[in-house]
Amino acid sequence: MKKFNLKSKISNAVSKMSGYVPGEQPDSSGWIKLNTNEFPYPPSPKVVEAIAKEVGANGASLRLYPSPTSAKLREQVAKYYNLPKEYAFGANGSDDVLNLVIRAFADDKKSIATLDPSYSLYPVLAKIQGANFIKIPFKKNLEIDFEKVKNCKANVFFFTNPNAPTGFGFPIEVVEKIVSEFDGLVLVDEAYSPFASYSATSLVKKYPNLIVTGTSSKGWGLAGMRIGWAMANPEIIEVLDRVRDSYNLDRLAQVAGVAALSDKKYYAEKRKEILSERTKTEEFFDSLGWQYYKSSTNFIFFRPKRDGKSSAEIAKNLFEFLRSKKILLRYFASEKSVCDGIRLSIGTPAQMASFKKAVLKWSKGK
Ligand SMILES: *Cc1c(COP(=O)(O)O)cnc(C)c1O
Repeated sequence: MKKFNLKSKISNAVSKMSGYVPGEQPDSSGWIKLNTNEFPYPPSPKVVEAIAKEVGANGASLRLYPSPTSAKLREQVAKYYNLPKEYAFGANGSDDVLNLVIRAFADDKKSIATLDPSYSLYPVLAKIQGANFIKIPFKKNLEIDFEKVKNCKANVFFFTNPNAPTGFGFPIEVVEKIVSEFDGLVLVDEAYSPFASYSATSLVKKYPNLIVTGTSSKGWGLAGMRIGWAMANPEIIEVLDRVRDSYNLDRLAQVAGVAALSDKKYYAEKRKEILSERTKTEEFFDSLGWQYYKSSTNFIFFRPKRDGKSSAEIAKNLFEFLRSKKILLRYFASEKSVCDGIRLSIGTPAQMASFKKAVLKWSKGK
């Protein structure tokens, strides 16, 4: 064999891109992890029971392939959102849905658009597919430029609502305006809707161009299980079914997802605790005179101040100070629109107390 040149074998699209960089997942213990918006409490005990039951005494069920369509999970998702089961789709995390939507609906002539800032995985997925990616900046104060959205000519518009990384939630009228005016598919990424006051799934039956995605990672304490879903018109679901892996959710994930969505009481209590901690943290930032976006999620994006000023250096300085105290937040160094702030996931009351204590130390210059 001649000298093997791997680089020349990589597809055109992939040779030009770099992969997504997720938030840090430290190996060692002792961290206060407030960087990837995981649920600060364990999942419902019913989830643990369901997994144990599925594994059984000797794991015999694991010999067998799971339901290819994740049938029971789809039924449960549909029930949860009050839709017929034909409108639901199950996936290996909602990132899997995002990927499948791009695989099915984008190419070098069919582009993807989103608002800037939004979830930074979208451009990576678009590049893999060789699709053009359009970023539409917000006007001042997170106002949406509806004219630009309407005229961007993308095939699919990704709308992160509530928005990440700002945490800001747009009212349902805004979703409906975009979905009704945009001449293409609209994907509303609702990773954080369990912490918001509504879900756009109520619009799915009315609009054949709407896809709403959800995940058990943020609102159900199951980021480690990789369970996501989509709700859309059955014709869209049929297209997604064509491109997904034949068994895209394993057995344990399927039963865990069903159990989680069935236990509304447990999650209502835990989310209430998170929302109360969120309010207290917003009040803490008020007391410091720091700017933040009003949050509809389980995180807050804030801009720290030193000597009355905020800047990228100041944000980075606080991020690194906290990191040295083993308190991990998320800092987006390379994203111009948000590099002067930091994203903080809402943790347990004890975790938030440690965070506040460290911030006060930093602001006193110690
Ligand atoms: C975390 C997150 C996701 C991914 O969720 P998974 O189900 O864990 O893949 C999707 N969209 C946004 C906006 C997120 O923050």
